[in-house]
Amino acid sequence: MDPSQCLFCGIVTGKIPAKKVYEDEHALAFLDINPRNPGHTLVIPKKHFETILDMGEKDAGKLFESVRKVAAVVMSGTSSQGISIGQSNGQVAGQVVRHVHFHVIPRFANEGPVGLEGALPSKKIDDESMDKIAQAIKTAHAPHSHKEPEQEAKKPDKRHKEDIDFNF
Ligand code: 5GP
Ligand code: ZN
Repeated sequence: MDPSQCLFCGIVTGKIPAKKVYEDEHALAFLDINPRNPGHTLVIPKKHFETILDMGEKDAGKLFESVRKVAAVVMSGTSSQGISIGQSNGQVAGQVVRHVHFHVIPRFANEGPVGLEGALPSKKIDDESMDKIAQAIKTAHAPHSHKEPEQEAKKPDKRHKEDIDFNF
């Protein structure tokens, strides 16, 4: 995606207004326009990355340091009793804005104590399938899509993914 077409890049450059609450060298945080709770804040890298899988370890590490700082000031500034952090990669995961962002959402004692993962129902998966899934993840490559050489991405997959039906 061309960053000049990106909504959040527009907020970084100041072309699009936002209620900014925190800024450092690498990250910017501003209030979500559709807050799930008062103080719902989005933390983004100033550089354009579509998903965290496009980020190198350094950029991702720095971003998470900023997320932690923002979580602390949001919690303190809203006097909340807890903080939920959510982050979606890819359309199927619910990502709408294609620029990496962390949702930092203050949580209050008067609401149901449901984690963000509670948006998905839990599934019954038998022990043998759980072993296969664990093995597939343990033996997977973790390419950085922005850096990995062509042949690395095309290496034969040793996970025998065809053995696993992920439609539980
Ligand atoms: P996603 O669904 O991609 O994880 O989250 C995108 C978030 O961006 C949504 O919660 C949405 O409310 C927020 N959002 C969309 N457009 C704007 C905007 O122009 N300004 C701000 N501050 N937030 C936005
Ligand atoms: Zn962007």
